[in-house]
Amino acid sequence: MYDAIVVGARCAGASTALLLARQGHRVLVVDRSSFPSDVISTHFLWPHGMSYLNRWGLLDQVTAVTPTHTSVDIVNDGIRLTGSVPTDLLREHFRDLHGDDSGVVGNYASVRRRVLDEILVEAAAKAGAEVRTNSTVRELIVEDGRVVGVRGRAADGQVFEERARIVIGADGRNSFVARALKLPKYDERPRCTFAYWSYWSGFDLGSGQIHRRGRLGCAAVPTNFGQNMVLVWGPSEWSREFRADVPGNYQRALDFVSPELGETVRTRGTREERIYGTLDQSAFLRPLHGPGWALVGDAESAKDQCTAIGMTHAFRDAELVSAALDRWLTGETSIDESMAAYEGRRRSQNAAAYYDYVCTFAEMRPYRHDELQLFVALRGNQEETDRFIATHADVAPVSEFFQASNLFLLNDAAKESSADYPVFDDFAATSRMYQQNLFA
Ligand SMILES: Cc1cc2nc3c(=O)[nH]c(=O)nc-3n(C[C@H](O)[C@H](O)[C@H](O)COP(=O)(O)OP(=O)(O)OC[C@H]3O[C@@H](n4cnc5c(N)ncnc54)[C@H](O)[C@@H]3O)c2cc1C
Repeated sequence: MYDAIVVGARCAGASTALLLARQGHRVLVVDRSSFPSDVISTHFLWPHGMSYLNRWGLLDQVTAVTPTHTSVDIVNDGIRLTGSVPTDLLREHFRDLHGDDSGVVGNYASVRRRVLDEILVEAAAKAGAEVRTNSTVRELIVEDGRVVGVRGRAADGQVFEERARIVIGADGRNSFVARALKLPKYDERPRCTFAYWSYWSGFDLGSGQIHRRGRLGCAAVPTNFGQNMVLVWGPSEWSREFRADVPGNYQRALDFVSPELGETVRTRGTREERIYGTLDQSAFLRPLHGPGWALVGDAESAKDQCTAIGMTHAFRDAELVSAALDRWLTGETSIDESMAAYEGRRRSQNAAAYYDYVCTFAEMRPYRHDELQLFVALRGNQEETDRFIATHADVAPVSEFFQASNLFLLNDAAKESSADYPVFDDFAATSRMYQQNLFA
């Protein structure tokens, strides 16, 4: 009998298993994959993602093989903002969520999942969790309305049955645990992006860059093995035309959104892997917990890739759920009190506002005139630029940055300088052009 069985051993699952095992609990973590292996992801970590790894003593292992940077460029319609999430906001974020701000770091990295997930799985095993890879959970054992264990099968055909005080579904957006429990999805947002990316050598980016123009976006970040991850994305309603010529449209999108990045890739880049892609990124929430079970990571909250936050949120969930379960497993509180505390942190107003922010962003509407003016105004104001980046990354509350008084202040400053940017020359014509599908 285990204290906890965790289904899924990546960002959410291996981290949860690691933390519970370090607290001294008996943990089994099961994954149908073997490691090292990749999963669909462009694997960018914001500073709070890096901070979780540092809090768990794993950051040095990651950065020994992964380039890091200390700022990001966000370029909207040619308006470039360079900044970073301020450390004081990061500290406040960790104190609010976890009660302490130890291990906070301010750097960024893009870590291949074949690198990161193996580090997490090995750390979980080292902490004392039993790790069972190549093993698929196929059934939940439910007694008197409560989940009490799992049944499954290993790749060699061996069947297994294991019992635990709690079963944690960390098994991704198509969660088997959620489906077996017939859990509803809610606040579903079907409008999402398509995303295509690959790995390029031959140029040095220095730091990460994220571009938006019209209804398209692209991003480029240095990653492992001396390569750069270069991603393009757009509204799902344009995906059919994009797919008609993936390599051609990938380059076409880069050239349109960031001519400079497009030229770098075309003239200096060597593509090291195929172009990967995904179309299914609709967002939804599921219930967080019930009798004998809890969900973490994408299993509970799946969101579009467009703000690159899912892995960091999975780490957050791992810390919150393991802290809550520890109080119950050590007899300090009842399971109901523990899970109510977990739910309180996860279902805050700030969390709801950020979920809405990501889902709205994922619709990929061209920026409005006032939004672009805001970006122009931010250029002269490093403190507010950094706060905007912190808001985009879910460190500072959306409601604080996008509150009316703040926007009026910024927009006053913007009126003077917006004339410098071509997007404002004939805004109506530009807006009409942005509505046309570039790939049709
Ligand atoms: C195109 C794209 C780009 C993205 N880019 C970023 C980014 O740049 N930054 C970022 O932070 N996030 C990004 N994300 C999101 C991020 O990848 C996810 O949020 C993250 O992988 C969620 O981690 P997880 O552990 O919850 O689930 P997953 O990573 O999906 O892992 C689930 C695990 O469960 C296992 N499993 C499933 N069913 C079973 C079963 N029945 N039995 C045993 N094992 C099972 C699977 O094998 C898998 O290993 C991106 C997502 C997409 C689609």
